[in-house]
Amino acid sequence: MNRPTAHFAIGSHTRLTGLLGSPVAHSMSPLMHNEAFRRLGLDYVYLCFDVKEKELEAAARGLASMGAAGFNCTMPNKMRMCELADQLSTAAELCGSVNTVVVEDGKLIGYNTDGIGYMQAVREAGHDIRQKSMTLLGAGGAATAIAVQAALDGVLELYIFNRKGRSWNRAAALTDRINSHTSCHASLYDFADTTELKKALDRSAILTNATSIGMAPQEEDCPIQDEQLLHEGLIVSDIIYNPRKTRLMELAKSRRCPTFNGLYMLLFQGAEAFRLWTEREMPVPAIRDMYFAD
Ligand code: NDP
Repeated sequence: MNRPTAHFAIGSHTRLTGLLGSPVAHSMSPLMHNEAFRRLGLDYVYLCFDVKEKELEAAARGLASMGAAGFNCTMPNKMRMCELADQLSTAAELCGSVNTVVVEDGKLIGYNTDGIGYMQAVREAGHDIRQKSMTLLGAGGAATAIAVQAALDGVLELYIFNRKGRSWNRAAALTDRINSHTSCHASLYDFADTTELKKALDRSAILTNATSIGMAPQEEDCPIQDEQLLHEGLIVSDIIYNPRKTRLMELAKSRRCPTFNGLYMLLFQGAEAFRLWTEREMPVPAIRDMYFAD
């Protein structure tokens, strides 16, 4: 991975942005944002703060009091931030989680840019899934953001598959919210129901794996067992980015399905947060080449 070649100066007017979560040491966000600030000559800095859920309210209010431009939230803080925000975007409200906060007049305005990042990644891969159907595997944090944004952006039918376990009721509530607040029709199925999965995939333009199945170090795992389920022309996307090429993507390639991984979702959720804080577009091609090369 390339490293930034020059440093920017922190001065008395430098605006603060950053990440509140625990752990945060692995995050790519400081690299991406600080390089983008530097390239555009913006007097901003992005720092990581190890903040646990019980400390979030004090940290978030403190940043607002000190005039920070805004911040990102990651695990375990996204749902709690949704409760703490003074105002929410439609997507954040429907998701019940916030990954980006803009500080405006001391108020905390909560957004969720994860789904926006995914939908931009779909477009970047050359696809238009408006008025089409999507099969979504998983109903965790990332899947929820994708489901909500896909529904808001005009996906017609959403088939969500999740395990019948501790998250089932939350997934059912998400499906209800999508059906009552958007024009998309969402339905929820048991992850183990391969008959329904086949029906859903036959009707879908895109399959999105938003489970953690296949993520390192369990790289041999695959959320789809039968390659015959993947019809010709089905777009197969995995939001996992470690490894870059998952077993699911290999399976899809063997069926000649177009594929893409989770790297661009990560890039574009950051680009949207950057735009919200600075009202400038992130220099995406340069950042992509430095940190998100496939
Ligand atoms: P969560 O823990 O919130 O959700 C995980 C989902 O995977 C749940 O639906 C869970 O089901 C499901 N799941 C896990 N194991 C299994 C299994 N063995 N069988 C069936 N379902 C399973 O995690 P996130 O939503 O935050 O992350 C999910 C994946 O997305 C991770 O790999 C993460 O790295 C990636 N990600 C990528 C991003 C990007 O920008 N590209 C952003 C965020 C995440 P259940 O609810 O039943 O446990």
